[in-house]
Amino acid sequence: MPVKHIEIAQIMPCIADSAKIRVIAKADCELGDVLPYLDRVIPTALYSERGGFLTYKRGLSIITLHASGEIAMTQIRDRAEAAKILDEIKAKINDTWARREEIDLSEVKERIQLGPLDLYTYLPKTNCGECGEKTCMAFAMKVLNEGKKLSDCTVLAEDKYRGARDTLVSLLESAGYEV
Ligand code: SF4
Repeated sequence: MPVKHIEIAQIMPCIADSAKIRVIAKADCELGDVLPYLDRVIPTALYSERGGFLTYKRGLSIITLHASGEIAMTQIRDRAEAAKILDEIKAKINDTWARREEIDLSEVKERIQLGPLDLYTYLPKTNCGECGEKTCMAFAMKVLNEGKKLSDCTVLAEDKYRGARDTLVSLLESAGYEV
């Protein structure tokens, strides 16, 4: 820290919108130390301390920052937009790190309340039945009632769903669930 460069490492088609891209980038340093602070300054942030990542929404995109320095972004228009967002992320990380002594980490964050739609939004929506439920919505309700674990959706383990899976993990952890 501070972050000097963030390089785009991989560009793939986006699963949610075939006209858009999914981007994996890499910062030139680890980000684990700054994630708890970013959790306090980004209003939509969801932080999984155990998983070592933080996700947040920027418009339709899901941005995931990993302790390792990897940054994943979904629903990006093109490479130029990816570069612009990565510049924003670098500035946010460096500004937050510079101000870290002013940010109170001792205050406990309020737990979020989740409904089935909150989970359904990030599920694959294939209604394939692999989890033992007829629909993804039924699975979402079972997860909230603790009758199923996220890992019961084997489809989510596919790499293309990684951003959605990380968001689901951090959503559930932020609501007090054991994931
Ligand atoms: S396994 Fe996953 S994708 Fe398939 S129905 Fe269950 S929740 Fe939906």
